[in-house]
Amino acid sequence: MSRKIAARKITAKKGLELECKGWEQEAALRMLYNNLDPEVAERPEDLVVYGGIGKAARNWEAFEAIEETLRTLEKDETMLIQSGKPVAVFRTHEEAPRVLLSNSVLVPKWANWDHFNELDKKGLMMYGQMTAGSWIYIGSQGIVQGTYETFAELANQNYDGTLRGTITLTAGLGGMGGAQPLAVTMNEGVAICVEVDPTRIQKRIDTRYLDTKTDSLDEALRMAEKARDNGEALSIGLLGNAAEVHHEILRRKFKIDVVTDQTSAHDPLNGYVPEGYSLEEAVKLRELDPKEYVRLSSRSMASHVEAMLEFQKNGSIVFDYGNNIRQVAFDEGVDNAFDFPGFVPAYIRPLFCEGKGPFRFVALSGDSKDIEAADRKMRELFPENEKLLRWLDMAQEKIAFQGLPARIAWLGYGERAKMGLALNEMVASGEISAPVVIGRDHLDSGSVASPNRETESMKDGSDAVGDWAILNALVNTAAGGSWISVHHGGGVGMGYSLHAGMVVVADGTENAQRRLERVLTSDPGMGVARHADAGYDIAIDTAKERGVNIPMLKE
Ligand code: NAD
Repeated sequence: MSRKIAARKITAKKGLELECKGWEQEAALRMLYNNLDPEVAERPEDLVVYGGIGKAARNWEAFEAIEETLRTLEKDETMLIQSGKPVAVFRTHEEAPRVLLSNSVLVPKWANWDHFNELDKKGLMMYGQMTAGSWIYIGSQGIVQGTYETFAELANQNYDGTLRGTITLTAGLGGMGGAQPLAVTMNEGVAICVEVDPTRIQKRIDTRYLDTKTDSLDEALRMAEKARDNGEALSIGLLGNAAEVHHEILRRKFKIDVVTDQTSAHDPLNGYVPEGYSLEEAVKLRELDPKEYVRLSSRSMASHVEAMLEFQKNGSIVFDYGNNIRQVAFDEGVDNAFDFPGFVPAYIRPLFCEGKGPFRFVALSGDSKDIEAADRKMRELFPENEKLLRWLDMAQEKIAFQGLPARIAWLGYGERAKMGLALNEMVASGEISAPVVIGRDHLDSGSVASPNRETESMKDGSDAVGDWAILNALVNTAAGGSWISVHHGGGVGMGYSLHAGMVVVADGTENAQRRLERVLTSDPGMGVARHADAGYDIAIDTAKERGVNIPMLKE
């Protein structure tokens, strides 16, 4: 039935000319293209956007079918995507989503990488990660504010609010991990980022996320020491394998203040290179003997975590950055792998309690002036939010757009609806030249169940309750988002998470105004409700103060 199509080179589409029957369908098409623009995606020829094998479509045949369907989709129709393949179009209505997606969802008993890989090989599945398969990835900027907030909170808790004079050691300079060096230098610290793939290091230098690179550990340590002693911010990409380099740094007794990691440890077959293997050897082994590959990479991850634990014992602040590396090490027999905490309970949960999370928007015109106008509006709407203003100053100075111009801003309950409606008005008045796509990461306050990450150590023990993620997708569909998604396995891999995505298009119409107000209220409202239900005081107070209607919330 399906013919083989060669990989295509996709670039982000800009301008005011429509090829679809409405801006909503056009927005989905442009965001699909944007996800695969070589400036944005990590391996666009394989449809891989980021996060190991996080893809935008199942294969090139499915990609073209999605493209074609979006071009002909009517304003009252909805296309269904099953793991990256369009499987049906139904008549719905004008305020219903134009696209509904379910990616990588497996029945719980079968929810493991072995079964997924079998289905993937047969062409029956695709790994959607979080924003890859739900068409709202915006390059490393999408994570940089969250990473910045995490390091800022770490600095508040431990170093009087700045990382100046400290050295952070991490690994992985991929799509998301590539935000780490910039987030550390924005907090005035020094970062050594170990990465096995030289092209990834170069990409971060080209996009100004990383300051400098070396393949010599001696040189990396010298540069780091000098910058630390001078109180200068500096990020260094070090070519090497973390499972080896970290032990060598320990052996030399070099003082590291903070240790974390963003290799794609969630996927032992595709995301992590075992120690002793060059990149080319790893690619070969992966093909020839995947079982042996997984055995070796899991073993290396265990050794990597042992090094992190050793750093912790020596006084470094160590935390897991959401890639499930502790779980892999634990399964390999490292009994104390969970001795260091995950970043959500350690630094982020109080924000989630207020419905705060990674709100983002993208200018479909492709004109960066539209984002400048939106930035100005944000400053005008939230003059009291000093953290946000500081973030905008830094983002405007340091962030290079990848693909369509976009902005990330962590906003909470109430703020998101306010900003969304303001953007819609700006589109209507012509202050912004074309419609704007508004969405978020799945890593948000009310959209994810992930016991080793977003819902780690919940106050009431409800870490593994998946209902919240499903309810999030259901309410956002009912409220009229433009495309809504349910995914499994994002961030931490098969069997470890369920999560939902939301995108809503501000095209300046009254239809959009109604939908924006509903979706941008229900979506962060779910975050407040989820955390209030778990007994967090901040969430309970937010619900009471802001009028989130929670039937069983006690007075
Ligand atoms: P990616 O696949 O694009 O990048 C991973 C990088 O790790 C690659 O560049 C790879 O070459 C490198 N790598 C692999 N093995 C290595 C080793 N042994 N030593 C050094 N480098 C090695 O993935 P990404 O999008 O950057 O995401 C990284 C991880 O972070 C994923 O597990 C993802 O799920 C997780 N994540 C965390 C957050 C968060 O906010 N904490 C957000 C998104 C993703």
